[in-house]
Amino acid sequence: MKTQPKASHYINGSYVEDEGGQTMDVFYPATGEVIARLHAATDNIVELAIEAARAAQGAWARMSPTERGRVLRRAADLLRERNDEIARLETFDTGKAIQETLVADPASAADALEFFGGAVAAYNGDYVDLGGPFAYTRREPLGVCVGIGAWNYPIQGAGWKAGPALAMGNAMVFKPSENTPLSALVLAEIFTQAGLPDGLFNVVQGFGDVGAALASHPVVAKVSLTGSVPTGRKVLSLAGSQMKHATMELGGKSPLIVFDDADLENAVGGAMLANFYSTGQVCSNGTRVFVQDGIRERFLARLIERTKKIRIGDPLDPETQMGPLINKAQHDKVCGYIEIGKAEGATLACGGGVPHLQGFEGGFFVEPTVFTEVGDDMRIAREEIFGPVMSVLSFSEEAEAIARSNDTEFGLSAGVFTRDLARAHRVIADLQAGTCWINHYNLSPAEIPFGGVKQSGIGRENSLAALGHYSQIKTVYVETGDVDSPY
Ligand code: NAD
Repeated sequence: MKTQPKASHYINGSYVEDEGGQTMDVFYPATGEVIARLHAATDNIVELAIEAARAAQGAWARMSPTERGRVLRRAADLLRERNDEIARLETFDTGKAIQETLVADPASAADALEFFGGAVAAYNGDYVDLGGPFAYTRREPLGVCVGIGAWNYPIQGAGWKAGPALAMGNAMVFKPSENTPLSALVLAEIFTQAGLPDGLFNVVQGFGDVGAALASHPVVAKVSLTGSVPTGRKVLSLAGSQMKHATMELGGKSPLIVFDDADLENAVGGAMLANFYSTGQVCSNGTRVFVQDGIRERFLARLIERTKKIRIGDPLDPETQMGPLINKAQHDKVCGYIEIGKAEGATLACGGGVPHLQGFEGGFFVEPTVFTEVGDDMRIAREEIFGPVMSVLSFSEEAEAIARSNDTEFGLSAGVFTRDLARAHRVIADLQAGTCWINHYNLSPAEIPFGGVKQSGIGRENSLAALGHYSQIKTVYVETGDVDSPY
């Protein structure tokens, strides 16, 4: 198997195997064939990884931020040098089209390492003038941090978590999704090659039970999870019961509001990006597209025309624009929601079927799908589908669009397309979402915070905010006079 790694886990600077762990078969989602066979971590592997991280962290934290940053920036360069090879691996692991993974996956991880590698030296505590005495604060690392990844952006997720954690002087044990275990191992190799001391970035494989064992380990100071809301509730409870720090990047059902005055082609392109990139498996997707009455007909005509042209097929063909879903379970789930949408009375405007692609009969493909006449209470408008299924809803008034957009338990993202910038800012200010776009959708560069409100999570990834979430403040009061004691 050409994508078989040297071993399942990477601990203390080396590949480690323990065949006592549960077998994990890795499938190529385009064909269903097994491309690697790994083993989930045993208790022993979990202990080894945590102990390696604990032992390495103190010396790393004592290095200057500039020195730590230099290692991360070297790793960013190595990621970029190996971009095409890692993109290919990511396509095998996720099924995402190579035209996406070549530009979006290792590149985004590299951007994060470069950003945090540079930013950390300028991320300092405060000086507080108390009129004689003074105080200062230190930004100190938390210790051993655990990262738990989802399967839609495996190496990006690893980079977004490892970057700020390591930059701040922490050590990390990272558990990729059981569906996509491969690329985090390459990141671990690259860190070693970049000069990261052994033990600071460890990868252990496994299912949810391994994630839970890591999250509840007493040595662990912080857990950062990317995953679904139900998993987030479980992991946050585990962390909370031991007063650990936690970042939760969870699911969504985000609104994208298109006003009558929007640039038509940009709005249609934005809505497609918000629903079909990565075969719709993006947490921040704008899956509820609210379109104002005056532009509705033109918007739908162009949307359907352009959606029908999406090239679906062999993910390794550079012309392919959409690959398969991650696995059979997700395929069943998405196809199930398409049936639910039809049964609920929404109009299937295009897609909805399973394409038959020669040579890829075992793959988990589904057509990009647009439902119109979607009602706010339909399940396809309320529940996260995590596939290429767009719901188009109509509205007439600005206030109505805001109220209906906010009528959800989620709050990850939101978008507005309009040429009226005053309206754009006014509407965005009223939307309950952590990450918003005006006249674009789904761009998340490392420089800006990313994360959700309400059930979509707590904490932020990326930007200086992430350095805050991977550190704790120590306050130091300094007396410059005598102690005025009443005793
Ligand atoms: P998931 O919740 O099933 O799994 C996520 C990770 O958590 C996996 O590594 C899994 O093994 C682990 N896990 C499962 N149960 C656990 C437990 N009890 N304790 C500890 N770890 C456990 O999610 P998924 O299916 O891999 O990913 C899809 C979901 O992730 C969607 O809801 C999507 O919206 C969300 N997501 C969010 C973001 C974001 O940044 N907000 C990004 C990508 C995906």
